[in-house]
Formats: sequence, C-alpha cells, structure tokens
Amino acid sequence: MTLSRRNFLSKAARGSAAAATAACAAVAAAPEANALQRPPKPMPAEAVGLLYDSTLCIGCKACVKACKDANGMPVEVAPDQTAWNGGEWDTPVELSGKTLNVIKAYTNGTMAEKDRETDGFAFIKRQCLHCADPSCVSVCPVTAMTKDARTGIVSYNPDACIGCRYCVLSCPFGVPKYEYDSPTGQIRKCQLCKHRLAENQLPACSDVCPTGATLFGRTEDLKAEAKRRVALKPGERTHYPRGDIAGKVGGRRDGHEATVRVAYQQHIYGEKELGGTQCLAVSAVPFDKLNLPTNVPETGYPTVSEGIQHTLYAGMVGPATLLAGLVYLAHRNTKDHDVD
Ligand code: SF4
Ligand code: SF4
Ligand code: SF4
Repeated sequence: MTLSRRNFLSKAARGSAAAATAACAAVAAAPEANALQRPPKPMPAEAVGLLYDSTLCIGCKACVKACKDANGMPVEVAPDQTAWNGGEWDTPVELSGKTLNVIKAYTNGTMAEKDRETDGFAFIKRQCLHCADPSCVSVCPVTAMTKDARTGIVSYNPDACIGCRYCVLSCPFGVPKYEYDSPTGQIRKCQLCKHRLAENQLPACSDVCPTGATLFGRTEDLKAEAKRRVALKPGERTHYPRGDIAGKVGGRRDGHEATVRVAYQQHIYGEKELGGTQCLAVSAVPFDKLNLPTNVPETGYPTVSEGIQHTLYAGMVGPATLLAGLVYLAHRNTKDHDVD
C-alpha cells in the first residue's frame, strides 16, 4: 500500500489534532483536579525569601539603591523625567533590564492618609517572588532558569541562555526583563542576592531597610510572622524585627516596638497564589489595588502546561509523527530533484 504525501499529512494532522483535542477537552472538563495535571512542586523545607510589609514601608527607596549597588546595575531615568534628570538620579518606575527591585506607589483621591484605600496612599515592592513552581523555569528550553533544590532561589545563567525570552512571556508577575538596549542583552531579575548570602550577608534590600519593611528569612518563618501580623489589631503594641528574622544572616539587628496603626488585609500575598511564592507581602490596602495579580489559581501554571505536554508527548507519538513526516517530505523532495 502506498501513502501519498497528502494522505500522510492528512492522517498525521488528524492524529495530532485528536490527541490535542482529547487533552484540551479533558482539561476543560475538570480544570480543578485534572488527570493531565502533574502534581504541584512543594516548597523546599529550607526555602528562603523576603517578607514585605507595606504598612512599614516609608517609600525611602534605600532598597532600590542598595539593590543597584549590590548587583552592579546602572542608573535608570524614566522617560518623563529626562527634562530635569540628566542621569544623576536613579528614578526607576518599573522593573526593567536595569532595575531588579522597584518601589511603586498606590494613590487615591486626596492621598490624605497612608495605608488607606480611599483618599490614601500605599507602597508596594516589586521583585522576583521566587515561586515554588516557577513558570520561568518550566518554559526555559535550555535550563538557563533554574530553581535551587535547597534554598529554592530561582537563578539565571546567561551562558546557557539563547535569548528566546520565553521566561519574560511566561512569568505571571511580569518579573524577568530583557536588556533591549544592549547588543549582548541578557535577562535580568532578582536572584535574592545569592552572592551575598554565600558570604553570610543579607540580601541588600533587607540589609538597608530602616524599618524592617523588607525582612529576610526562611519562608516558613516569614509565613508565621506574616500570620502573626495580619492577626494584629489597630492600637496593639508589637515588635517588628529587622534584617534576618532568625538573626543569623548578617548579624542580629534591633527591630522596633510600635503601635499597630491600621488593620491588615486578611491575606498574605504569596501564601497560595500560583502554588505559593518564597517572597511574601502583607498590606492594609487590597493587593489588587497594588497591582498584584489576585485572580489566579492556587497551583502554578506549569502543573497544567507540563501535564498536557507530557500527555501529548507520551510515548513520543507527537514528535515521532512529525519526524516521520519531515523525513518523508525530505525523501520525496530529494527523489524529485534527482529525477529532474
Ligand atoms: S528600604 Fe524599606 S522602607 Fe525604604 S522603600 Fe525599601 S522597603 Fe520601603
Ligand atoms: S516571579 Fe516570575 S521570574 Fe520570579 S520565579 Fe516566579 S515565574 Fe520566575
Ligand atoms: S534580594 Fe537582592 S537582587 Fe533581589 S530585590 Fe533584594 S537587593 Fe535586589
């Protein structure tokens, strides 16, 4: 029996489409607990991260400057600031190829009071959240993005990177950025100052933060501290630690006693979002107002995308079909050329 190119492509397409349709239909039928989902990746027991408390942040941006210095990043001037800033002042407004950490402001109405949603203002710190199940690691075709099995820090290897920028597209938090203005551009994102941690120094942002708004520690310890804080009531006295919550990395720092001014949102950002993140945040203003994605599932996107991939590629049926098609076409074209 002979198989024409048209027949072959038609059958291959029907086979692939059937497999893809079956996979998508199964996902659509039971998106919560799907046979195609792979199990979520757990947070490493020794995972480390940051706890950012928006109510303690005074917007001084010492963390932005320290992050630049610690990571050799250049000054950045926002386009609307060039009239008064010739490049002496670092004034980033977004994460970028020059900025790994930025403090952004929420404002509303008269902005009369800090940490108030209406007629108030608040700050939010943006940097890589070091996801438990990171999309950037999942999509990277050459393992230039990796997650450390012990600390959970998500790192980038420029020597392995092929510049495809899938990580930029895949991150649900919009974190990795590409250096578009460099002929040898790399991806840039926070790597939790792992070079400083290797020398028992704090991540630079938590090292310099004067109020303890950015606190370093084991994610489990930070989560417990976040739970303690959101349970506090306005008017209560409490202790806010500074530096490393365990007082080990970078030496012990004095924290401070304070009266809780405002009611915390009953939400620890990063506790559940997309499978959990090692960097967490608490705030008095809702997180959607602070421009963090809140309408997201509690398992990471890779649980579904990798599950579907593994199903379609099970037994290498998809790639084998494609390869056979390409070989057939190459053979036909070579034969036709020889005859001619
Ligand atoms: S150093 Fe601390 S208080 Fe200052 S902007 Fe950064 S997080 Fe806020
Ligand atoms: S926040 Fe984005 S860049 Fe950071 S680990 Fe998660 S997916 Fe990767
Ligand atoms: S951990 Fe280091 S790289 Fe990450 S935001 Fe803080 S200072 Fe910047």
